[in-house]
Amino acid sequence: MNATTSSVTRKAAREPVIFEISKPGREAPTQFPPLARGPDAGAPALPAHLRRQARPAMPSVSELQAVRHFTRLSQLNFSIDTHFYPLGSCTMKYNPKACNSLAMLPEFLNRHPLAPASASQGFLACMFELQEMLREITGMHGVSLTPMAGAQGEFAGVAMIRAYHRARGDEGRNEIIVPEAAHGTNPATAAMCGCVVREIPCDSNGDVDIEALRAAAGPKTAGIMLTNPSTLGVFERKIVTVEKIVHAAGGLLYYDGANLNAILGKVRPGDMGFDVIHMNLHKTFSTPHGGGGPGSGAVGVGERLLPYLPIPVVGRDGERYRWLDERDRPKSIGRLSAFMGNAGVNMRAYIYMRMLGRDGMVRVAEFAALNANYMMRRLTAEGFDAAYGMRRASHEFIITLKRQHRQYNISAMDVAKRLLDYGMHAPTTYFPLLVPECLLIEPTETEAKEDLDRFCDAMSEILREMAETPEMVSKAPHTMPVRRLDDVRAAKLLDLVWKPAAARAGE
Ligand SMILES: *Cc1c(COP(=O)(O)O)cnc(C)c1O
Repeated sequence: MNATTSSVTRKAAREPVIFEISKPGREAPTQFPPLARGPDAGAPALPAHLRRQARPAMPSVSELQAVRHFTRLSQLNFSIDTHFYPLGSCTMKYNPKACNSLAMLPEFLNRHPLAPASASQGFLACMFELQEMLREITGMHGVSLTPMAGAQGEFAGVAMIRAYHRARGDEGRNEIIVPEAAHGTNPATAAMCGCVVREIPCDSNGDVDIEALRAAAGPKTAGIMLTNPSTLGVFERKIVTVEKIVHAAGGLLYYDGANLNAILGKVRPGDMGFDVIHMNLHKTFSTPHGGGGPGSGAVGVGERLLPYLPIPVVGRDGERYRWLDERDRPKSIGRLSAFMGNAGVNMRAYIYMRMLGRDGMVRVAEFAALNANYMMRRLTAEGFDAAYGMRRASHEFIITLKRQHRQYNISAMDVAKRLLDYGMHAPTTYFPLLVPECLLIEPTETEAKEDLDRFCDAMSEILREMAETPEMVSKAPHTMPVRRLDDVRAAKLLDLVWKPAAARAGE
């Protein structure tokens, strides 16, 4: 037994997790003594008819038990602060704590979203500069920070494309071309905006099939939605040809820039000819995210779409900053969120970019690509198959376990679950749908070489287990508080609320 497996077995011996520790009569202080002074001293806070007649049913535990219970529960999760987290297409990188603490300064945190511009000059200056930095990074003409997620940024983008065609009386353009390597949100967005999705294939190298694109583009084309680098982890080499074909057909180009880390300071979507882009500030520019939020899906546009940008955006008159709204932008597609978007996430992105500076941005791209390519080389050397041969990866890459599946009947899901036993979050599984038995691996730029090596060592160990002790892999995880869950049931019937025993008995 080597060092890795013995530590895995040791971990299995840890205390079982008990969720129900309630005992009748045991309790923690839940009320402070009444105020002894002042005009309200001793007076009930609520009129009698609004007050409870009986105490609510609560778990009966001591304060210490409650603290331990929740602290332990919080430690059952994988997080970037505790584990390597190579979840492809999600950019689970380290988010510097300084971004968090500066964004939480009371001057930012306590600012009322309806405070007048005259009382918000500092905040508005930060947001203006953030717009400018994103404009420069993407090569676009204008930026709006209002969308609250990548998917909402996409919605804004396609809504602008539609508004542009309508304004020109070009009502018949209702088709959005989506390469099959696209993120699932792309076709969903197009459908949400009332467009017809025209899917086109990719060639065996992972690039857009140019002949299929030529055949699809025409007078009904509203635009194309492209993720570049694509979810196959490769940079679209025929991007200039794609741009020519779509623009020549009268369509516009949408860039899914959810994961910009591979291209920061290297290439700009605006220079590639794109008309609109959304960026996931929470992925690329440092906000801890997951489980659905929080996010910011800032959008950038070229000259043609500038009038349609969602409002409000921050403008500058001389030395003063102010919100530009429907009076300044009468053709805007309108508001996407209450107020000005997700202020906290935007603030973190601003601080992150100021901390890294221009040179830091370039280094982000270089390390994101270096780490992904290093791991791809190591894993292929260990005997895994890269889905797109040795084609250079961007910030992520795909391993396909098709061969191992055939040989050992071990699936990508089995390997993902076994990685948990080795103390690492699993990569993205079964996405993109094009590649059978795939793991989409995104190490991100913030990981040290030792951690990349640890992952590759674990993968190589798992490969050995497949041949020698296949049950170790097919029955994994062995050390987690729960084994394999019914993912669909867990998502649909999520049960997070403690119920008193009586209510549970009646279920
Ligand atoms: C994450 C992601 C999205 C969606 O972003 P959300 O903020 O989750 O809505 C869209 N496209 C790509 C390529 C992504 O990775």
